[in-house]
Amino acid sequence: MPSESGSLERLGTDLTCFRCGSDAERAFEGYYGHPGDMYETGTAYCLNEEGTYNPDTNHFACDECYIAIGCPSLATGWVAP
Ligand SMILES: [Zn+2]
Repeated sequence: MPSESGSLERLGTDLTCFRCGSDAERAFEGYYGHPGDMYETGTAYCLNEEGTYNPDTNHFACDECYIAIGCPSLATGWVAP
């Protein structure tokens, strides 16, 4: 299996913050790409780790916006609208 390109990660997926419109690469800067990090892109991080990510809308809440809207939480898990 080639591992360089042709990855099955949905790298073309356009994930954005529902509130500020920041894309995943910018919003999760600092969460990926460092030696030893599990993910190489913000998109991959978001798809796998971000609890607010909503697969129906491809929206998430970045840290700043999540705090700005009062850190919502639900027993079932809160996702961005
Ligand atoms: Zn935001």
